[in-house]
Parts: sequence; structure tokens; C-alpha cells
Amino acid sequence: MPTASNVLCGCGRFMRVKQNGVTVEELLEDGSPYKLWDADLLECVECGVEIIAGFGNTPLAEHWYPDYPAQRARLAPIYPGRCRPEVGRRVTHAID
Ligand SMILES: [Zn+2]
Repeated sequence: MPTASNVLCGCGRFMRVKQNGVTVEELLEDGSPYKLWDADLLECVECGVEIIAGFGNTPLAEHWYPDYPAQRARLAPIYPGRCRPEVGRRVTHAID
């Protein structure tokens, strides 16, 4: 793995981890809750882009868990993870 991280910004600078252990809520197409994930927030000091990557292999919680709402509250702040781009908005950053 390269020194700073294994994520290279499109501008040509390796991104750095801004915060380990952020929580992402994966949302269904209709915007309803689906899964909670642990991931890392990275930033590019060159152009200011922030992305979230480094997701765990398994979710922290799934929507059918009885304690999902409690976990969601405990893990706030939550970054929403929408599956479908909003109408009329172009997607400019994507990570596989
Ligand atoms: Zn950049």
C-alpha cells in the first residue's frame, strides 16, 4: 500500500484518512434504512474532496435487527449512503 493511503484522488494526490470509524447508513432506493456500516473518511488536501471508503466486510447492523434504531442513535452522526442518484444531479465522484 502507498504511504498515505490506497486511495488516489482524481487530481493526482493520495488521499489521507481524516477520520477512522465513521458510520454510513446504506439506504434503499426509496430512502428507507437498510444497513449500518463502519468506514473511514478520507480527504484530499490538494483539492478538498472528501470520500468514504474502507467499508467492513459485514455491516454493523441490518434494518431488521430489533436494536437497529438504538444503534443508529448511538453511532450518530451518520453519513447517508444513497443507492440512486438524485434526479437532475450528476454524479461526479464514484469509488468501486
Ligand atoms: Zn484531489
